[in-house]
This record gives sequence, structure tokens and C-alpha cells, in this order.
Amino acid sequence: MSFSPSNAVRAARDETPADARSMREIASAIEAGLADSFAALGSAFLTPLPAAPVPDPYLIGLSREMAESLGFDPDIATGPEKNEFAAYFAGNPTRDWPSDALPYAAVYSGHQFGVWAGQLGDGRALTLGEVQHDGARVEVQLKGAGRTPYSRMGDGRAVLRSSIREFLCSEAMHHLGIPTTRALAVIGSDLPVRRESIETAAIVTRVSPSFVRFGHFEHFYANDRIDDLRKLADHVIDRFYPHCREQDDPYLALLDEAVRSTADLMAEWQGVGFCHGVMNTDNMSILGLTIDYGPFGFMDAFNAHHVCNHSDTQGRYSYGRQPQVAYWNLFCLAQALVPLFGENLPEEGRSERVVEEAQKVMERYKERFGPALVAKMRAKLGLDIEREGDDKLANGLFEIMHANRADFTLTFRNLSKLSKSDASHDAPVRDLFLDRAAFDAWAAQYRERLAHEPRDDAARAEAMNRVNPKYVLRNHLAEQAIRQANEKGFSEVARLLDVLRHPYDEQPQYEAYAGLPPDWAGDLEVSCSS
Ligand code: AMP
Ligand code: MG
Repeated sequence: MSFSPSNAVRAARDETPADARSMREIASAIEAGLADSFAALGSAFLTPLPAAPVPDPYLIGLSREMAESLGFDPDIATGPEKNEFAAYFAGNPTRDWPSDALPYAAVYSGHQFGVWAGQLGDGRALTLGEVQHDGARVEVQLKGAGRTPYSRMGDGRAVLRSSIREFLCSEAMHHLGIPTTRALAVIGSDLPVRRESIETAAIVTRVSPSFVRFGHFEHFYANDRIDDLRKLADHVIDRFYPHCREQDDPYLALLDEAVRSTADLMAEWQGVGFCHGVMNTDNMSILGLTIDYGPFGFMDAFNAHHVCNHSDTQGRYSYGRQPQVAYWNLFCLAQALVPLFGENLPEEGRSERVVEEAQKVMERYKERFGPALVAKMRAKLGLDIEREGDDKLANGLFEIMHANRADFTLTFRNLSKLSKSDASHDAPVRDLFLDRAAFDAWAAQYRERLAHEPRDDAARAEAMNRVNPKYVLRNHLAEQAIRQANEKGFSEVARLLDVLRHPYDEQPQYEAYAGLPPDWAGDLEVSCSS
């Protein structure tokens, strides 16, 4: 199998993708990037294959800024070439596919719900190629593009509802400032897809610097393919963490990077009440990005043990357990990297040294996550200076939020309205708590703490509103867009994306999107079915 680009493809790479004005140019720009991308790792890592076409694809949602950051005019999606756009990003052949520009599915393994699951892989995702633009280099992948050698029992498809959720949430997370894979578009087709009932298919175009997961490393470790394991680690280091080469042990340094980025990510998730839902090791990005949006959820009423995934009957991936689960997952990653550690150490005593060093790196997770979470909470509470007891103050708030099932997003957003001098402005937060006395007791402590803050109310409120979002992708909001899309209306997808592009801003025209969920939202269930 050859991954070298044909001359035609190589020529296309020399053009600036920013100039891509036609679908042909966009396709060439994406596919030209295959040659020196993850694909170049070769056949042990992936299988090249075309997508399975879908009938009559149509555009459901588009992230215009994602299009721009890939270097093309977003109007292409709705202009004279709109059919070609929908067809290309559905995986349908829009022209003769150059054989060396075939998309690929990657292989990985992983632990699912704490149990070794063996080989998994891109069962419904195909990477089209890679785009270089404005100094960034990103892979472009279709999710739901048909069966692959890694589909196992699956049909290679994704349904409309889960695709809309992934599309919207990828972009929403990005605008919240939380590391994530991105999404360019979601394309629909009336192709029937069987889940609990018959639904229709959709394809999300995902964009990320890398889709490498912890499970990729576990795969080569479990199969005792240490040379491939090293090749994979080298790919990630060379691409993303070249400074690891300056360390005594670059692979240990890679683990350190994963520990650091994962700890930071967990602090971010906890800070906005985001539950991933399926934190299996195959859904953990080596770059610490939020990846594989499935039965995720932003918490409405706060419950520290909230389980957003209806299929997670044991509550393994509850909100409160996420940081711990991430640590467990990092252990799986560390275990998989062990054969690469200490390669330059003398044989004598090597394995003991390696384990010791790896444990030290793993310890840094706690050293990093704890302070990162406290820093996040301090910012959320509008505390500019550090004082002892700040973590207790934050925990106290979580306790009464939990006891009162106070709305997560509204509690923090409205907290900025509190005054440090008197309680007469408390109502917007206080009213979210049934037990008003409990809130008043906490608010008194909070005001005491605020007395030590140099900032005035207005300055504090402004800072708080930059870290406490007003708009998040609540389940019922996604559901409204999905219901309309099921009837072939896509304006709500566009509107919701528009709202979520500015999560920290007041958007008076979108006030309804910031309110408490309606009663029917309590009955919404999201599961692994997607
Ligand atoms: P997930 O729970 O979505 O992370 O998926 C776990 C594994 O199952 C991955 O290897 C997916 O590619 C695969 N998978 C999930 N749904 C499908 C499907 N409908 N067809 C093929 N593979 C799937
Ligand atoms: Mg997955």
C-alpha cells in the first residue's frame, strides 16, 4: 500500500487552501494533506477505504467559522455548489477518487466501563485528510460514513439526533474555551437507520489536530507490537510535543503531557457541569481534548452523582467520578507506554526504575487537578486573591446546590449579581434554592470572603461573567433542534449554534435559551444508542 501523493495531489498542496473557492479545490486541499499525516504511519494503523454513499444528502448545519479556519468560503455550502458540498461531506464520490487519496479508518482498542474490550477502532469514522491553514494543521474526519473493517456488529452509521448533538456540542465547547474536537458540518440523508426504532442517517464532519486516543496505545501494547507502539508515540511527540525530545525520557514526557492536559480538561468539565457519559479509554484523546460526544449532558439541576448516560446503570461515569475515572484511564495509558520507558537505562534494575518514574508522573495528576479545580472555582466565585478556605467555600456551595438541586448554570451565572455589601440583590440566586435559610447562611460566608476582595461589585461581576456561561447546550435545547430537524427544519440548529457561539455574553434576543429547563426536559433520556 502506498501513501505517496500523486503529482496532482502534491500540486494542489502548494496552493493556499485559503483560496479554495470550489469543492474540487477544497477536496484537493484536504486530501493533499494525507501524505504526511497519521495515514503515513501505514497499514498496521489503519485501513484505507471509500465511504459508503448515502442517497440525496442535504446540509443540516454548518459552522461558518470552522469553514473559514479551514481556509474556504462558508458560502460554498449554500451556493451553487451546495449539492457537491453535501455530497462530499457525506462521503459520496463527487468525482473519481484518486486512489492514493482514499480516506482511512484507524484501529484502536480500549477499556469500556472498566473492562478490557479488545479491538475497537473507527467503526463508523473515516478520515478524509488534513488541512494546513493559518499555521494550524488539522485532520478532517467523517463520522457515520459507513462500515469499516472495525465496525464489528455496527452498521457504520450515526443517527440524526446524535449527529446534531455532536455537531452543536463540539462547537459549543470550543466557544466555552474548553479543549475539544471541532465540527464543520452535519449532513443528513433519508437513509433509514435501525436503532430502537427506525431513524435516519447523518454524517458529522469532525475536525481535530489528532483523533489519537489512549486506546490507540493500548492496542499496540496489548498486541505486543512494541515497534508500532513506538512509531505511534513518535508521531504524537513529533507532531504535538517536540519538546519531549529534550527530556531524558521522551515517552515519559509524553505521559506527563497527557496527565497535564487530561487534568486540566477535567477541571474544565467539572467547572461547567459537563458530563461526558462514556469515558472509556477509547474515548480519551491523547491531546486532552473532549472527544466522541455521545450521551453527554450539561447538568441542569445539580446532583453531584448525576449520570447523564441512561446506559450507565452503575453510574461509573457520574459527574462526581469523572476526575477519578480520568486518572484510572491515564493508568491504562501509562501501562501501555511502559515498554517504551527507560529505553536508555541499563538492564539491571530497569523495570523498577521505570515503574517508579511512571508513578511519579501519575502523581502529578492529583497535584495538577486539585489546584486547577480550585483555581477554576475561585474564578467562578469571583475571587481574585487566594485565601485559605476558598475550597471549603466552593464545596459549601456545591453542597447546598446538591441538596436543593439548584440549576448549575444559573446558580453560577446569577452569583455575579450578588453585592458584597448587602443582601438585597440575592434573589436571582437565592430563588434557585428551596432551602432559603441554607442559601442565606452560605451567602453570609461568601460576603465575608468578598470583603477581602479589592474589586468592586461591577468589576467582579464582569470577570465572573467571563467564566460562568449564560448559555450551554442543555438537553432540552438540543432536543428542540432535533425535533424540528426530524421534520426537515434546520433553522433551530443554526439558531442554537448562533446562541452557543457567545456563551458568556448577554444576548437579550435569546433570553429564552438561558432559562430553566421545561418540565418535559426531566423525561429526556440519552443513552449509548447513537
Ligand atoms: P462509542 O461508544 O461511540 O465510543 O463507540 C465504541 C466503538 O463502537 C467504537 O469503535 C465505534 O467506532 C464503534 N461503533 C459505535 N457505533 C457504531 C456503529 N453504528 N457502527 C459501527 N461501529 C460503531
Ligand atoms: Mg468512541
